Amino acid sequence: AKTAGRNTVRFYDPSMQAALDRRSTLENELRHAIKRGEFTLHYQPQFDRLHRLIGAEALLRWQHPRDGLIAPAEFIPVSEQTSIILPIGSWVLETACAQLAAWSHGERTRGLMLGVNVSARQFRQPDFVDQVRNVLDSSHANPELLTLELTESMVLGDVADTIRKITALKQLGIHFSLDDFGTGFSSFSCLTRLSLDQLKIDKSFVVNLPGNGADAAIVTAIITMARSLGLNIIAEGVETEMQRAFLDSQGCHAYQGHLFSRPLTGEAFEAFVGGI
Ligand code: C2E
Ligand code: CA
Ligand code: CA
Ligand code: CA
Repeated sequence: AKTAGRNTVRFYDPSMQAALDRRSTLENELRHAIKRGEFTLHYQPQFDRLHRLIGAEALLRWQHPRDGLIAPAEFIPVSEQTSIILPIGSWVLETACAQLAAWSHGERTRGLMLGVNVSARQFRQPDFVDQVRNVLDSSHANPELLTLELTESMVLGDVADTIRKITALKQLGIHFSLDDFGTGFSSFSCLTRLSLDQLKIDKSFVVNLPGNGADAAIVTAIITMARSLGLNIIAEGVETEMQRAFLDSQGCHAYQGHLFSRPLTGEAFEAFVGGI
């Protein structure tokens, strides 16, 4: 880097400059995406051991005017590095709660749980608890049907703050799930200190089941531990009957994955529910 003028630093590596340009273009587009209505939530059904529909996970999609449907892996990480994740996170929570409230009026959707992904930055906001409370109040969604999905790295950042927020939100009836379990540097003692409801086994442990002995052993250990702590266990990324059968034999409580359904638009989800 070479200093150009007073406060600007220019990069002369063309590939680095190109990457920075791409990122600032993306940032700009994200800033406009919310007000242009380019975001949507898709809903992936979740099932219990008896194959009954119990709920869904809300998954964010960006309908880009030029590039088409963009997966969250392409813009969530960038959004998290800036504060763009904050308005996006608020939009997700508002839209998910509105959907939950709408489901309460349908005979077959009433009582379904809805999982919502929360980003680290969003959770760390000092007024996160108030934000959630306000969204619940204005949407009239039932807090008992809302599950907030947190990840290991974010809950371990500031454990005292995490405990305070989880405790306050649980008093409203909200449920908590620990997402991507096993992929981070999990501190098992934290599991007992945080009053979580659910543990979500990451799809990276599921994909090679049951043939991969190491993954099978990890999954068995996770399920055994979670059950002994009284946690509900859901496996994501379940694509085959063999995977489901193995998880079932180990005592897994719930499933989500392409074996059952891909994430669906709100409309397609209602059609799916109607067809069960
Ligand atoms: P995640 O929370 O671990 O979500 C599960 C991902 O696995 C989703 O990818 C889902 O579409 C995918 N999946 C579900 N079943 C299967 C399967 O059987 N096989 C395979 N191969 N994949 C399956 P998606 O929708 O692309 O989301 C990726 C990640 O983006 C999510 O991972 C989550 O961390 C993040 N994300 C999604 N929506 C939101 C959101 O609203 N807010 C935040 N902060 N993050 C979000
Ligand atoms: Ca998730
Ligand atoms: Ca995952
Ligand atoms: Ca995740």
